[in-house]
Amino acid sequence: MRIAYRLGAPAVALAVLAGALPARAETAETAGKVRTVVSLTFDDGDATHVAAARLLERRGMRGTFYVNSATAGRAGKLTRKQVVALARAGHEVGGHTLTHVRLDELTRAEQRGQICDDRRRLLAWGLRPVTLAYPFGAVDAQAKKVARGCGYDAARTVGGLRQWSCSGCPETEPRRPRDRYGIRTPGSVREDTSLRQLRQLVLNAERAGGGVLPLVFHRVCDDCGLYSVPPKVLDGFLAWLAARERRGTVVMTLRDAVGARG
Ligand SMILES: [Zn+2]
Repeated sequence: MRIAYRLGAPAVALAVLAGALPARAETAETAGKVRTVVSLTFDDGDATHVAAARLLERRGMRGTFYVNSATAGRAGKLTRKQVVALARAGHEVGGHTLTHVRLDELTRAEQRGQICDDRRRLLAWGLRPVTLAYPFGAVDAQAKKVARGCGYDAARTVGGLRQWSCSGCPETEPRRPRDRYGIRTPGSVREDTSLRQLRQLVLNAERAGGGVLPLVFHRVCDDCGLYSVPPKVLDGFLAWLAARERRGTVVMTLRDAVGARG
């Protein structure tokens, strides 16, 4: 993965923006050795994600940022320019509906508006969104069909994988998830989630034989709400994660982790 990014000439960045590159973490460096893939996903287009992206980049990692295109530029949110800059830096930008609604409470036409119009807007910004995250992880069978119809190749929910509150759940998704429009995760990372708990999720995934472990973050700041993680905790986790590469544990965008295509 790092090799690919070191070649990060403008041409490569543009190719990434256009979604033209294949799963980049599968370089000669890691091919055949990758067992556990951790995807760091950040929801809601929060302004703190600019700093979060920096932390990832410093470790040679790339994340997945789910934005609500209609609220970009509002107070506390990423601007359109910042969203585009994330993609140019090699991060994945995915859809999260226009205005962050519960899709399972909407009619099919309303779901189409929220999912398709959001994606169209991201496309108009020059992005190529191929994965979607359902706000609140709230989804029904109809919304999954709409997501597919709108051109998404995969979509992420929240919950369903093992964590401190769900011991009976599986630890990971397979690299080719059975339900591509219902990719599971542990519960959202919260301000009271410890570094030790984050590490434990990865250790559990490794012990279970690997697979994809998508983690859900929201704001990245100190004392800024239940759904937040302090930068120090995130950075400590990234440092620990980076050292696990030799054990076959790598960080990829969710798009690359599940081989999503546009
Ligand atoms: Zn959200």
